[in-house]
Amino acid sequence: MTETTRDVVVVGSGVSGLSAAVYAARADLEPVVLEGPEPGGQLTLTTDVENFLGFPEGVGGMELIQRGKEQAERFGAEFVRATVESADLEDRPFELSLSNGETLRTRALIVATGASARWVGAENEDELMGYGVSTCATCDGAFHRGDDVLVIGGGDSAMEEALFLAKFAESVTIVHRRDELRASEVMARRALDHEKIEFRWNTELLEIHGSQEEGVTGATLVSHPDGYPKEKFENGDEVDRDDVDVGGIFYGVGHVPNTDFLEETPVSLDDDGHLLTLEGMTTETNVDGVFGAGDVMDPNYRQAITAAGTGSMAALDAEAWLDEQDAERTEAATPA
Ligand code: NAP
Repeated sequence: MTETTRDVVVVGSGVSGLSAAVYAARADLEPVVLEGPEPGGQLTLTTDVENFLGFPEGVGGMELIQRGKEQAERFGAEFVRATVESADLEDRPFELSLSNGETLRTRALIVATGASARWVGAENEDELMGYGVSTCATCDGAFHRGDDVLVIGGGDSAMEEALFLAKFAESVTIVHRRDELRASEVMARRALDHEKIEFRWNTELLEIHGSQEEGVTGATLVSHPDGYPKEKFENGDEVDRDDVDVGGIFYGVGHVPNTDFLEETPVSLDDDGHLLTLEGMTTETNVDGVFGAGDVMDPNYRQAITAAGTGSMAALDAEAWLDEQDAERTEAATPA
């Protein structure tokens, strides 16, 4: 792999990377797809996807991803299990240093690295993550049969986690830092109407109790009638403190884009680390030949279907850009 220069490398194998791979492979660009630390991306951690067009009964997230990978491989995409440790995007072809020790050269790069679960910043979370604290109810929910559990967050992820956990847990309490949910109406309604799910409004998780030996045993929550209690607590304002006994804590507080490997490159990122694409309907970035797709460049929609859409756009944009480059090269080589 070291010697040759590829036309297209897709970094990431979630729904956007797979969609880019299908399109690039069908265009005979023989893409390499780098599968990172979470192959298949966020959809592999979800249960049913109910809003992906064409699946009236819903489809399992894992199944959707597996089928997408098969589809990309059928057209000739090559999958490599490695992350990009650093990228030289100043010179041509681009050069990617991979975690497996190899160097990969490519003319065009599609960044589809997605986003990873955000952590809350509660005391002891580093120690207890994986020992009763989790960012994935579908992965870890079954360990909490009969437990009282907390879900942190007020968006669709938190509602989804709570609804899933309600199948196993004795009780589920959604802890949200203000008094209004961010979740969509339909998801919010399902959680609000569920008999096993309670809400703690204007409340945040300050501290987690327990140990790696015994798991999570409880938590300290802080509340303030005006919301965002932790900020107020840190400013020295008076807040209500409450210790609760719980056996599990699930984070559903959104995601952060995976763009660490781009920090030392000329590719523009926004303040939250999202890859910035150029204005208008395009996946191009400020660096010619670098394209962005999926959650890594989308702070707004973040849906499986939009990620698939931007993945296909990135492959089409890359194909057009490569064609332009080839045409320019041919023109330059043709005697006048
Ligand atoms: P999100 O919409 O950004 O919501 C994150 C939630 O976590 C917000 O309620 C936020 O509070 C809270 N939060 C953020 N940082 C926090 C912190 N440090 N401490 C406490 N609370 C914190 O993220 P999401 O729920 O993961 O959803 C992301 C996207 O995926 C959305 O577009 C959503 O519709 C989509 N999604 C859809 C489904 C579905 O349809 N089945 C399922 C999951 C996700 P504030 O509200 O105060 O900001």
